[in-house]
Amino acid sequence: MHIPKAELHLHIEGTLEPELAFALAGRNGVTLPFADTEELRTAYLFDDLQTFLDLYYALMAVLRTEEDFEDLANAYLTRAAAQGVRHAEIFFDPQAHTARGIPIGTVVEGLGRALDRSEETHGVSTQLIMCFLRDLSAESALETLEAAKPYLHRISGVGLDSAELGHPPAKFREAYEAAGALGLRKVAHAGEEGPPAYITEALDVLGAERIDHGLRCMEDPELVKRLAADRVPLTLCPLSNVRLRAIDILEEHPLRAMMDAGLLCTVNSDDPAYFGGYVGDTFHAVHEALGLDHEHLRTLARNSFDAAFLDHDEERRERYLSEVEAYVFD
Ligand SMILES: [Zn+2]
Repeated sequence: MHIPKAELHLHIEGTLEPELAFALAGRNGVTLPFADTEELRTAYLFDDLQTFLDLYYALMAVLRTEEDFEDLANAYLTRAAAQGVRHAEIFFDPQAHTARGIPIGTVVEGLGRALDRSEETHGVSTQLIMCFLRDLSAESALETLEAAKPYLHRISGVGLDSAELGHPPAKFREAYEAAGALGLRKVAHAGEEGPPAYITEALDVLGAERIDHGLRCMEDPELVKRLAADRVPLTLCPLSNVRLRAIDILEEHPLRAMMDAGLLCTVNSDDPAYFGGYVGDTFHAVHEALGLDHEHLRTLARNSFDAAFLDHDEERRERYLSEVEAYVFD
């Protein structure tokens, strides 16, 4: 659970714990449709995507000021650091906030305040990846990219998230081309609920450098061969897959088969406040449920740093990798 690792698939909005939701609601005079944290915690025990998304967007109402976003990021970094995270590439959804009248600058500067002090305070290096909501229009993605231009010094890449079916990657070809021209790195959710073809499209049309989830690649042996040969990182989120019913039970998760197939797998927490655990908890859960031994876990940790966007700082990557090799399991 504590092995040094990078977290590469984490939505900051999905780290909002009930206690912080109530604290921010109180600070901002927002009334939540729940009596107390206990009732809200019970609401977190949903078992389908729509109930999750309804709750997820409803709770965002408490995030209003830079300080709120700073507190949210600090709470995540504290928990992540306690579970061995040394580097985090954090997703945020600008459109989920601008749609509520919160400017993108408030979000980015607020998160940035926490991220600026993260190495010193938490021992965690960080990057910020801005995700487009794929169920919104391609025009909205382009507008979001435009609005982000004053803040690009704080943003290292773009991603694509939210409901996948009916919203193929190619819809965002232009936005990704524009992001690439601005020097941004590219990732995309694909092959979670969507078909394997969405993974191929994310690679070939969007130029995605990592695939978020991607577990349905296992339905296409040729695609598996390609992903393995090209060492395309997959950011898997096993606890999320179970909670959102992509997989019935964790014991049936293909992670082990994917590692055996030579895929560059990483394990991440996705929306940890909602899906039952942070990334260290996830390492522990796959160890128990899938019988992954300590060397499997070390491989997953090593993969997370290999897949991180640390090309500009290979020295740091090497330092993290040597921490992984030196780690002694208890
Ligand atoms: Zn995700």
